Amino acid sequence: MINMLDLGWGITQLDTAFQRPNMAACYIMQDGADVAIIETGTKDTVPLIFECLKQLGLKPEQVKYIIPTHVHLDHAGGVGLLMQQLPNATLVVHEKGARHMIDPSKLQAGATAVYGEAEFNKTYGDLLPVAKERVISPKDNEQLTLGQRTLTFLDSPGHARHHFCIYDEVSEGFFSGDTFGLAYQELTNENGAFLFVTTTPVQFDPEALKNSINKLMAVKPQRMFLTHYGMLENPQSFAPDLTNQVDTLVQMAQQLAKDIPASDPAYTVTLTDNLLQFFLQKLKAHGSQLTLDQQTTVIKTDVLLNAQGLSVWMNQQAG
Ligand SMILES: [Zn+2]
Repeated sequence: MINMLDLGWGITQLDTAFQRPNMAACYIMQDGADVAIIETGTKDTVPLIFECLKQLGLKPEQVKYIIPTHVHLDHAGGVGLLMQQLPNATLVVHEKGARHMIDPSKLQAGATAVYGEAEFNKTYGDLLPVAKERVISPKDNEQLTLGQRTLTFLDSPGHARHHFCIYDEVSEGFFSGDTFGLAYQELTNENGAFLFVTTTPVQFDPEALKNSINKLMAVKPQRMFLTHYGMLENPQSFAPDLTNQVDTLVQMAQQLAKDIPASDPAYTVTLTDNLLQFFLQKLKAHGSQLTLDQQTTVIKTDVLLNAQGLSVWMNQQAG
C-alpha cells in the first residue's frame, strides 16, 4: 500500500514511509512526457516511487530529473539507488551537496557515527555513488525546463548550506525542503496548520535561515510543498512567526548558556526539555485537541534535533 495524493498541477505527493506515516514526503511532478522526482526518501522509498509511477501510468524512462532539496538522508538517501534504476535521469543537487552524492562515503561515515552501524544499515543501507556525468548543480536563480514548465532554483542556506528550494511557476509554489519549517498534519486543526522551525545540526545558521525565508517570500508564492509534510497554503501568513521562532530559539539557547556551558552534555538535555515546553505551549495556544502525549510523540524527534542543532551552533560561535 502506498500513500499518494494528487495535489493538482501535475504534482503527486507520496509518503516516503520514513520513520512513521506522514513524516516525510516526496513529490512526483509531471509535465507533458517529462517527470521529475523531488526528494527521494531513503532506499526503502525507491519501490514506493516505482509503484507510484506505475499507478500514474508513467514509465521509468520518462523521469528526467531527480531533485533532492539537500543531501540530508531523509531527503536524499535514496538518490543512488534511484539513479541506478532510472537510466535517463539527471541528478539535480546543490553544488555544495554534489560531491556527497558522487562519493557518499563521507555522508555514510557521518551518519553511521550519529546513528550507529545497526540503525544506519537498517534505515539507510549502503549509499550508492552517482556518476559525476549525471549530476548538475544549478546556480542561484538558474532555471530548468520540465515539459512546458520552468523550475527555478533558489540557493537557501540556513537549515544546511547545501540546500536549495525549487519554485514551480505552474503551481506558484516552492518545494521548500526544510527551509520553510515543518507542519505535521496531525497538528493541523480548525486554526490551520501548526508550522515550526527546524534548526537541525550541523550547519544551522539563524541569519542565513531568516534571509532564505524572506527570499522565498519575495517571490510571493501561493503555497509551499513541505517535505515534512505536504502542501501549505498562504505561506505569507506563516512567515513572520517562523522567523520569530528562529530568534526565540536562539535566545533560549543563549539564555541557557548562562547557566550551563553549551559544551556540557547537560546543556542539550536541558535545552531539549525547554524547547519541548516551548512548543507544547505554542500548541496549546494553537488550540490543539491532542493529548500532551500525542503532541509530544509528533514533535519529539524534531525537538531533539533542534536542541542538538542549536547546541552545535552555540559551540561553533564559541569556537
Ligand atoms: Zn528533513
